[in-house]
Amino acid sequence: MKVVCAGGGPAGLYLAILLERQNPSHDITVHERNPEGSTYGWGVTYWRGLPDKLQAHDPATARAIEGASVRWSDGIAHVRDLATRHHGDEGFGIDRHRPLDLLTDRARALGVRLEFESEITEPPAGADLVVAADGVHSTLRTRHAESFGTRITTGRNPYIWLGTTKVFDAFAFAFAETEHGWIRAYGYGCGDEHSTCVVECAPQTFTWLGLGRATEGHGLALPEKLFADVLDGHPLSARPGAGRLTFRTLTNRTWHHGNRVLLGDAAHTTHLLHRRPHHPRPGGRHVPRPRPAPARRPDRRPDLPTNAGPRPSRCPCRARPAAAPGGTRTCPAASTCPRTGCSPCPAGATRPCCRTSRRSCTTASTRQPAGCRCCTGSSGGSGPGRRAPCMPGPRRTVARPCRQTPACPATPCTHSRRTGPRPKYIQYEGQGPARREHAPDAAGPALRADGWSLTTGPRPPARSRGCRPTRFPPVSSAPHTRGVPSMAVPVSFDQTSTGYSLQRAYWLARAADLAYKDRAVIEDQAAQWGFDQVRHHETRFTPPFPLQDTQAYTVASERMIVTAFRGTEPTRIKDWLTDATTPPRPGPGGNGYVHHGFAEALESVYPAVHHTLTELRTDGQTVYFTGHSLGGALAMLAGARMYLEDPHLAADGVYTYGQPRTCDRLLAEAFHKGFGGRMYRFVNNNDIVPQLPPEPVFTHVRALRYIDSHGRLHESMPMLSALTDRAAGLTADAFAPASDGIRDHFMHNYLTALEKSLD
Ligand SMILES: Cc1cc2nc3c(=O)[nH]c(=O)nc-3n(C[C@H](O)[C@H](O)[C@H](O)COP(=O)(O)OP(=O)(O)OC[C@H]3O[C@@H](n4cnc5c(N)ncnc54)[C@H](O)[C@@H]3O)c2cc1C
Repeated sequence: MKVVCAGGGPAGLYLAILLERQNPSHDITVHERNPEGSTYGWGVTYWRGLPDKLQAHDPATARAIEGASVRWSDGIAHVRDLATRHHGDEGFGIDRHRPLDLLTDRARALGVRLEFESEITEPPAGADLVVAADGVHSTLRTRHAESFGTRITTGRNPYIWLGTTKVFDAFAFAFAETEHGWIRAYGYGCGDEHSTCVVECAPQTFTWLGLGRATEGHGLALPEKLFADVLDGHPLSARPGAGRLTFRTLTNRTWHHGNRVLLGDAAHTTHLLHRRPHHPRPGGRHVPRPRPAPARRPDRRPDLPTNAGPRPSRCPCRARPAAAPGGTRTCPAASTCPRTGCSPCPAGATRPCCRTSRRSCTTASTRQPAGCRCCTGSSGGSGPGRRAPCMPGPRRTVARPCRQTPACPATPCTHSRRTGPRPKYIQYEGQGPARREHAPDAAGPALRADGWSLTTGPRPPARSRGCRPTRFPPVSSAPHTRGVPSMAVPVSFDQTSTGYSLQRAYWLARAADLAYKDRAVIEDQAAQWGFDQVRHHETRFTPPFPLQDTQAYTVASERMIVTAFRGTEPTRIKDWLTDATTPPRPGPGGNGYVHHGFAEALESVYPAVHHTLTELRTDGQTVYFTGHSLGGALAMLAGARMYLEDPHLAADGVYTYGQPRTCDRLLAEAFHKGFGGRMYRFVNNNDIVPQLPPEPVFTHVRALRYIDSHGRLHESMPMLSALTDRAAGLTADAFAPASDGIRDHFMHNYLTALEKSLD
């Protein structure tokens, strides 16, 4: 078979190796437009799963790549003055040139023809198979974008891809607060001498901080200063062409067309965006960040205070100061090394055994000859008689106390959390793996933080696809809803219709309530309602504010698709709700501004929701977004974003319950102008959450549906009557658990009022 591969990146080269190994009679040519050995950026990181896969397919490549990588087994997060270290996050880093060199050598040794400085712009004639492995901007794919069904979404946050001479001994996340918003960086070692460091923040923060100039010498001063403690004073550096970048999410409907196939980034991108950092949390295990005397470079920029003094010339041994006993790299020139803390060499040693690790070595006294990997013992795998302690341990699942509820009634708690290695990449598209599981033998209901009871039990058997009831049961028949009066509500509605209807408002409130439930309950209920497809959207990204995760689900039938966003306790986001000083983020399509916290929360699930809708909306189904509380803000924002950025995907309606103010007047107007008549916002009279964050920075979209203190639903409410009505139950602290402000916010009160209105 004659195979022509456009692109000599990791994907093209590895495919060539595998095809050649499979059948040496294949005639394979890889065309790479750049000279041999060129690449971009700094390092690349990967986790245990990759070497295992490489090993299974070509052990020689696996050995070479793993041998050339540095490894770590911890993750560390720095927030303000706190740092928390998480053991067991084993990972690898490698300079981007190394795998390319190794794959090139391997392919050449196997007999693959490699043509450098050879650009392919048209599929070559005479090839049996044409492989487009030419990256995210693939020319071959772009020529047939319609056949492949290509979609590209550009991430909102700009980032700059930098390097540093600081060699991180763990995967490091750092968050710094500036007057213009949060800025974050992550870094990992990718060689004996340097690390990758990606700095990212919201667009307006990026602009206001002047990070666009970061590739110019002086522009790096700010990130260096903000992350000086994490970098131990080491400088950052940029490579030519770095500049302001944004991640792209690329998907294709299909990966093949005729004799052309897409591979690697040409087919789909994957990013290290949603790796969940382990934030220090109140009550969590915090360790004060050690503050070693940093070895700073001299201040080249008079406007920024840094430690004065000449920058020490580069240590010939690249030693880092004050390393833990036994874990130090040895310095062959200690007597002349200008760096404070440089450890002297043991006689005769030319290279320490810790070559592949930056962690302190717990078995230093019994150090092995050069090249051994004995020094990552602090992950718990070390000990006399064991093999190299830094080798990964087996995957384990252990039962731990349930963290889902403050008062889990199961004793001993039968909920379990999955532990062991967690996925390091969560692709934008598709489903993240189940993060939390309830053991099938969980005893009895657990009290949830949001006040509802949650019934746990064996996952119900899958229902047959043929059953599509159009009527849904009354509220009282759902075991997980508490406190709702038991009454038969014979409600059904045409799923294909659009426009306002009370039945739909009630049913979507049920769907919003369901978002608080477990996956199994959602799936069971969706099946009862006649939706045969269910997708769960979860993010493991924890933004630098008190929100654990953002969750939503999408259900689809032949006629209707509903995405419901989960809310959270208002007390958990009280600071966001009461603070109007954090700079908002630009709104969808450049319209107005959005509350920073809501925008971040949506950002973490929106690509998955978007992808799911494009996948499931195959038959012109109606699409609705719904949510309660924070979930309402996310539903509204998702609706606005889809309408303003992807009008062809726009939803047919957005129904929210107890939604906080989410955006500024400009966005509210832009949304209302085109979407008016499809957005409905239900507010219970004294509910505190819709009254926050404060005006005038934030405002509401129109189309209020008001529930008065008697539980009656009004399609409009004159200002004066609303004020009188509200005064009935306000207390001093609207967030106090027993106050009207919070009581009126509960979802079951919305359900009760809507149910009453249906009578
Ligand atoms: C900032 C950043 C950080 C990342 N970090 C990680 C990470 O830590 N871990 C990880 O696994 N992934 C990471 N990635 C993703 C990773 O870089 C890509 O998934 C990977 O490089 C894709 O390999 P590829 O071979 O498909 O494409 P590329 O690496 O893009 O290679 C495509 C090749 O095709 C060549 N080419 C293009 N057009 C033509 C043409 N017409 N004719 C001939 N040749 C052509 C290009 O010169 C290039 O060499 C990161 C990406 C970015 C942007």
